[in-house]
Amino acid sequence: MIKGSCLCTQVQYEYHGEITELAVCHCHQCKRAQGTAFVTNAPIESSKLKWISGEALLKSYYSSENKRRVFCQNCASPLFSQRTDMPETVRLRVGTVTHGHIPQPDYQIYCESSSSWFSLDENKPRYQQNIK
Ligand SMILES: [Zn+2]
Ligand SMILES: [Zn+2]
Repeated sequence: MIKGSCLCTQVQYEYHGEITELAVCHCHQCKRAQGTAFVTNAPIESSKLKWISGEALLKSYYSSENKRRVFCQNCASPLFSQRTDMPETVRLRVGTVTHGHIPQPDYQIYCESSSSWFSLDENKPRYQQNIK
């Protein structure tokens, strides 16, 4: 079982299945929607995703005619995206997962718009928390 929540924790969900596929998306829309260098999305079955609390706080923004991006309207955490022509699938933002197994990424998409400034140098300092 997968469990997760938004930042303010008012929206809580359970996924009654396994995450079996993980994509790294480098598209401009995902980067702006999440404010990050890239986004990690898992396609999961919408019928197995259950809202434990906060469903009324979910808000949809249609970044394309056929694609909505769903977030908590209290804290703005992005939770998933969904295409209107593929309602059986949602693409979960796995940074919101708090319990359960997330596999390593399987593939990357929209690599032509990947952030050229981003790379992880393991030789750079690695702190446990924020630097004061
Ligand atoms: Zn929230
Ligand atoms: Zn994307």
